[in-house]
Parts: sequence; C-alpha cells; structure tokens
Amino acid sequence: HLQPVSASAAAQQYPITHEKIESPRDTPYFLDNEFVCSKTSQWIDLHDPATNNLVTRVPQSTEEELKAAVESAKRAFPGWKATSIMARQQMMFKFVSLIRENWDRLAASITLEQGKTFADAKGDVLRGLQVAETACGITTQMTGEILEVAKDMETRSYREPLGVVAAICPFITPDFPAMIPLWSIPIATVTGNCLILKPSERDPGAAMILAELAKEAGFPPGVLNVVHGSAKTVDFILDEPAIKAVSFVGSNRAGEYIYARGSANGKRVQANLGAKNHAAVLPDCNKNHALNAIVGAAFGAAGQRCMALSTLVMVGEAEAWLPEIAERAKHLNVNGGFEEGADLGPVISPQSKERIEALIQSAEDEGATILLDGRGYKPEKYPNGNFIGPTIITNIKPHMKCYSEEIFGPVLVCLTAPTIDDAIDLINANPYGNGVAIFTSSGATAGRFQRDIEAGQVGINVPIPVPLPMFSFTGNKRSIAGGGRNYFYGKAGLEFYTQLKTVTSLWRSEDAVLRKASVNMPTPS
Ligand code: NAD
Repeated sequence: HLQPVSASAAAQQYPITHEKIESPRDTPYFLDNEFVCSKTSQWIDLHDPATNNLVTRVPQSTEEELKAAVESAKRAFPGWKATSIMARQQMMFKFVSLIRENWDRLAASITLEQGKTFADAKGDVLRGLQVAETACGITTQMTGEILEVAKDMETRSYREPLGVVAAICPFITPDFPAMIPLWSIPIATVTGNCLILKPSERDPGAAMILAELAKEAGFPPGVLNVVHGSAKTVDFILDEPAIKAVSFVGSNRAGEYIYARGSANGKRVQANLGAKNHAAVLPDCNKNHALNAIVGAAFGAAGQRCMALSTLVMVGEAEAWLPEIAERAKHLNVNGGFEEGADLGPVISPQSKERIEALIQSAEDEGATILLDGRGYKPEKYPNGNFIGPTIITNIKPHMKCYSEEIFGPVLVCLTAPTIDDAIDLINANPYGNGVAIFTSSGATAGRFQRDIEAGQVGINVPIPVPLPMFSFTGNKRSIAGGGRNYFYGKAGLEFYTQLKTVTSLWRSEDAVLRKASVNMPTPS
C-alpha cells in the first residue's frame, strides 16, 4: 500500500494544483459508514491526466469485501425502509447543504483525476447537486393513489423501495464524476433503498467524498456502501441475487453486456450508453450564437461528455462557416485544468489519446480533410499530459470510421446536407440517439425537426440539452439499453427505484347478507 488508510482518509483534501503528490494514498472502500483499506493484491493506478503523475491506487475489491457490502446493505434495509419519509428528507436536505459546502473540494478531485477544468468540474457538481435538491421534494413525489372501488371497499397503491440496489459509473464519471453518482445516490436512498456504488476505477475521488458527506448527513451505516474495481466487480453485482436493480452509465461495449446479464438474472437495469450527438446548422440561424455554442459544446471537457456536440451537419450555405468555426476553436486555451483561463484539459489516459489520434488519422486516410489538427499539442507546463488540441475534420462521409465510432475527445466531425430534410434523414440513419441540436431562427423548421428527429434529447438553439432533474435523461436508440424504458432521474427515475403495492380493503358498514361462501372470482360492483 502507498500509505495506510484509516477513517481519516475520508477527510482527503485534493490539492488545487497539478503538482506531484509526494505521498499519494490508496483509495479506501466505504463500508458501514467507515473508510476501509482493501486487502486486495490487485491495484489499479490512477494518474493525473495533465501530468501522468500517480494520484492514488484504486483496489479491485475482493470477493469478501463485495459480499460484505451486500450483507451490510441487507442489514441496513429494514431499518432504513421503516425510517419515516420526513427523516429521510431531512438527511437529504443536510446532504445537499454539505455538497454545497464541499463544492470546491469535489471539483478539485474531478480536475485532478479526470482532467476537466476546475470551472467545468464545478458545473459537474452543480448538475448532480440539482438532482439531490429535487429529491428533497420526496414527500410529494412518493404519494400513491386511492380509489373507492365498491361500497365499503377501497384500493390504495403505495410506492415501496426495492431493497438493495447498485450503481456502476463511467469514468466519464470522469465525464461526470460527481453528477452521475448523484443521478443515483439521492433518488435510490431517499426512496428507502440501500445503494452499493461502484465509481469508475479511473476517478473515484468525488464518489468517496460524497460517501463521507452522506455519513455526515446522517445516513445510517449500510445505506450507502462504495466498492471498487472493474469487470470483476461488475460481474459480482450482476450475479448477486440480493441486488434488485442496477443503474449503469457508460459505453455500449460494457452497457449492452450489463443490460443483458442483469436482466437475465431478473434485475431491473437502467443503462445509458454511448452517443454521437449531431447539430444541424441552418443558414438562417443566429450565426454568432450558433458558432460559439458549437465550439463550446464540441470541445468543452475535451469532448469527453456523453452529450458533447461531436458532429455537425451544415445545411446549404452554412457550410461556408466551417473556417470560422476552426478560427474560434483555435483560440481555445488547452491546459492543465487548474490553470487560470484553461478552456479544456487533457483526455483521460494515454490510451485514450492514442485511440483518438488513431481515429483522426483514419479520417485522413479515408480522404477527409483535417481543417484543424490538435494532434501532438503539448501545453508548455504539461509536456507529459494526455493533451489533444481542438480538431475539426471536414468532408466526412457516413461510412468513415471517425463518423461511425464515438470519438469521445476534442474532435468535431463535419458533414453537409443540401436541405433540412436531408439533414434529418442523415441524423436519423445514425444508430445513436442521445442528444441532437438544431440552430435556426425559423420556428416552423425547428418544429419539423423536433417532430421528425429520432433522438431522445433535442436542443433548439441549445447545444447540450441535458434535461434538469424535474425531467428525465431520455436517450434513444443505441444510446439507451432496453428500448428506453428505464430513464434516469425525474419521475421515471423514481419509478425505477420503487415498486408499487396495492392494498384492497373491505370494512362493511352493515352486516353482510350472504350466508354462503362465494367461490367465484370477486367482482365488486
Ligand atoms: P465504460 O463502459 O468503459 O465504463 C463504465 C463502467 O463499466 C465502469 O465502471 C467500468 O468499470 C465498467 N466496465 C468497463 N468495461 C467493462 C466490461 N468489459 N465489463 C463489465 N464492466 C465494465 O465507459 P467509460 O469509458 O467509463 O465512459 C465513457 C462512455 O460513457 C461513453 O461511451 C459515453 O458516451 C458514455 N456515457 C453515457 C452517458 C449517457 O447518459 N448516455 C453519460 C455519460 C457517459
């Protein structure tokens, strides 16, 4: 071990700098409200993407540790389910205020482990915090229904928790290391479930801080446990009968497997997957707004967002604006995420950088034009980081590899279409359907686009239309597993973490007249 970890590891303070950490500490796991050092012999090194210096080591939790997390959650469940909804609501209020107090600390852990800029990381925390804030309204969200179905007879429905549930997060958790755990923690727990959280092995720091804050907010031991690891931990979660539901966010490769195996084992599974988000740009749009929105949404977080605007369809004369987009992108400041004025940081790992650069090369080899080439970019202070500058590729055809694959880096690929109908056909032919945007000043064109486009989240002059938590995150096609039944957060998220129970009761107001038992199916009338 790098250094023994004790409960005080909870108080880990992340430096607001990329300087080498002299004595990095191992990441503990979180069991029964304690931070515990894993007994594993398998550790996953986690490096600062800006420097590739070691930040921490993440354990591959052992079988015993994983079982202990399940046993702890099972023990906690009856008491937590019986805890009054008002008491759970109070804890959620406290949790929300603690997240606010620890906002910078959470953001610092994200910048250090995932690479995105500090300002962007603060936004990441905020979008998760809003889910927790919305969960504070649980007292009006959990109500059931009641109907008098016959004389003296009524049926009531109750929403009950499922029991032990689990959440598996992406590094994009490095995409959103705070937001995505916060898609699950507040809703799963406030509804009375006990949650086992597996953050990404590539950036678990924010999740560990959230666990510490949950304890401080009053969550009883076992209501939230955090385990670590990669595929082995995921398989354990998928096969463990006590776990009733699994939330997953990540790639199609992992997610389609998780959905299939989890569902085959009788679990509820919600799984948000990969994306290729298009924007149709019409020549009648507000050009300045559109170009700024596109550059921000394509390159922010170095393109490592599931809702990054990675694909442009320039309609008609809008094609002529491509050099101007490149000009604006050229001025973005690519630097360590803690540096003042940094617009985008590095990508998550050297392997990721290599994969993205190979995709750019494949476009060149297939005949596309590299209008802006960010390969090989090295900020002066960070020669060892995984940096790629903004890259724009034009003359793209749908068969090209950089179009058919999700790039997940600071790369914008550009296609053209003669009319809006051609643009709609082209976008609809793409297998992904996460987010899409249109830039136009015509309400009629926007209306047609909104109606005919096959994507779950549509932005009209809005580049990243991620819905706020009173709605749900509504991917479509291959961007969500299972045909989009199990959305994250909003009403659908609450339904995912609860099951309905109906109770039908009869309290006779006068003596029954029947003296003989009826053997027919009761048909109250
Ligand atoms: P990933 O699929 O590699 O990892 C996600 C999780 O799955 C991690 O916890 C990881 O440990 C686990 N995992 C990885 N490989 C596995 C395997 N073979 N078997 C079992 N488990 C495995 O994804 P990532 O690289 O961390 O995240 C990037 C992806 O997430 C992108 O495709 C992005 O579009 C997607 N994403 C989607 C949304 C959305 O809401 N649609 C949001 C964020 C990220």
